[in-house]
Amino acid sequence: MYRNNVIMRIIVSNRCVGCGACSTISPEVFEISGNSAIANQTKISGHEESCIDAALNCPVNAIKIDEY
Ligand code: SF4
Repeated sequence: MYRNNVIMRIIVSNRCVGCGACSTISPEVFEISGNSAIANQTKISGHEESCIDAALNCPVNAIKIDEY
């Protein structure tokens, strides 16, 4: 589990330009649909590190990560 008892949730904002970087970095979680990315929340567990990488590499800073 990603850190102890921490669950990650990802929000892709409408700033997304559909470049595909996130789905290349974390293909298990991110998918491009039309001109923007979708994050599959049910696939995040076990792929948290690549989600953080995707967020850091998004050219328009469209990926927001919440933890709870
Ligand atoms: S990396 Fe950012 S801009 Fe590119 S598809 Fe993913 S969320 Fe959209």
